[in-house]
Amino acid sequence: MKILVPVKRVIDYNVKPRVKMDGTGVDLANVKMSMNPFDEIAVEEAIRLKEKGIATEIIAVSIGEQKAQETLRTALAMGADRAILIVSPTEVEPLGVAKLLAKIVEEEAPGLVILGKQAIDDDSNQTGQMLAALTGRPQGTFASKLEVEGDTIKVTREVDGGLETISLSMPAIITTDLRLNEPRYASLPNIMKAKSKPMAQKTPDDYGVDITPRLKTLKVSEPPKRVAGIKVADVDELVAKLKAMGVGA
Ligand code: AMP
Repeated sequence: MKILVPVKRVIDYNVKPRVKMDGTGVDLANVKMSMNPFDEIAVEEAIRLKEKGIATEIIAVSIGEQKAQETLRTALAMGADRAILIVSPTEVEPLGVAKLLAKIVEEEAPGLVILGKQAIDDDSNQTGQMLAALTGRPQGTFASKLEVEGDTIKVTREVDGGLETISLSMPAIITTDLRLNEPRYASLPNIMKAKSKPMAQKTPDDYGVDITPRLKTLKVSEPPKRVAGIKVADVDELVAKLKAMGVGA
């Protein structure tokens, strides 16, 4: 069974994003970029399924600018077998990404597609669900545990108020939640080996997919600044102040 893992190059989670002066977006000039953390979890899970003998090949795919190659090399260094880069000079919206992924699903016929639950740059949380709709495949979103049993996969999902376990028939679409696993670091020998793993380069046109944006960003702004706090002398003063603010009333 093949596993397809879409990985997005996003602003590193440790970086505090700066909004551009003109409010048109986030300033990405000279900012550290990394693989979307939920996608690292997806790559890790695919590798574990391969290590268990359930998967035979892991294909990483990224849609973005040329530099997304680096993100794919990271996936290859972690343990993916080959990569597909779909180059687009402009940001592709979740629907465009899902349409491109649907074409790759058609071509590669993977038993599982494991995506992140959301990309931490735009927090859309849409691509996996759209891909499931476009391909007519069952979806297990926000997965915190996966167990493959023959042609079915048991997915433990993180839902409000607890965990939900569902059983899907494969081929299926999965999106990862934070507690699914802890991704490994790529070792130096594996980073070297990744340089010679195959990476195909394509364009949206190769798949006949129209990626024209359907959404327009009107304005991006910083969250309001936190107002300064005050120091209290003791617990009594703290409780008095909280009461005055109506906290706990
Ligand atoms: P989103 O719907 O944008 O929050 O993204 C959810 C997941 O879809 C991500 O965690 C990735 O697995 C995948 N994805 C979204 N955009 C891209 C992209 N440009 N290239 C590769 N995978 C992507």
